[in-house]
Amino acid sequence: MRLVTFSLPDGPPRLGAEVDGHLVDLTALSAEENVNLPQDLLSLIRAGDFGLHTTQVLLSRRTLESLRPHVRDRDEIVPHAPFRPGKIIGVGLNYVEHIAESGRALGTGEERPPRPVLFSKPGTAITGPGDPIHHNGDLTSQLDWECELAVVIGRTARRVSEADAWEHVFGFSIINDISARDQRRSGQWFFSKGQDTYAPFGPVVVTRDAVPCPPELDLSLRVNGEVKQKSNTRHMLFPIPRLIADISSGVMLEPGDVIATGSPAGVGAGLNPPQFLRPGDLVEATIESIGTLTNPVVDAR
Ligand code: MG
Repeated sequence: MRLVTFSLPDGPPRLGAEVDGHLVDLTALSAEENVNLPQDLLSLIRAGDFGLHTTQVLLSRRTLESLRPHVRDRDEIVPHAPFRPGKIIGVGLNYVEHIAESGRALGTGEERPPRPVLFSKPGTAITGPGDPIHHNGDLTSQLDWECELAVVIGRTARRVSEADAWEHVFGFSIINDISARDQRRSGQWFFSKGQDTYAPFGPVVVTRDAVPCPPELDLSLRVNGEVKQKSNTRHMLFPIPRLIADISSGVMLEPGDVIATGSPAGVGAGLNPPQFLRPGDLVEATIESIGTLTNPVVDAR
């Protein structure tokens, strides 16, 4: 399934599903069917198998033709980030070519890390599809992009083995791990990567069963139409089960947490000469089988 969060103009957020490219309003459909469906995606994820099963049953009862009264025109809706995660755990230096460019440009070292490099971004950094990425020239002149596969946790994970890790994954989305390269402080990434709007997220959460496992997905990022990053998630240094096992060895993962699994090469800091985002730029992060997350950069001084 492909699940989305959206609103009608001036209305509260609603839950939706993409069916054959059409956006079905699950909030309206569940009301008509008198089905007690969680009314936002985070609640649905936290409802576990019940939430997914109920949604599947709701959609499977109807043909696309009979769903048509609840199909929303893309022009009439406002897309939102799927939800605000409980925790956003970022993984640094998880693609080999990015380790090399980062070592060169950002002084992070040329060696492959022996264990995943972990950091966090606050939920307040989340912003939705089409929403602006803030460029505050008082704080940064090195605003950078990182297209990443987002893993959405669906089941509590505490000391989970790699073999069991997939059972804890709800699905996948896209995160653009925006960074102010000049705000890393004493090696810490929190202020550099944690500022408001530095985690564009969406446009959809694709459930785990809808993507071949393990997901080997092309990912790419464009700035103003020009390709900056292009790789495949199979090139992660530490694959998803290893990340879940490593994180959950010491930090419990809960439904609605998100792991941003790291960026491939091609970040602005690694280019020669370096290139950074400016107000007026348009950033498009694309991952196969998920979609494209598009955000404009705006002056927010
Ligand atoms: Mg990153």
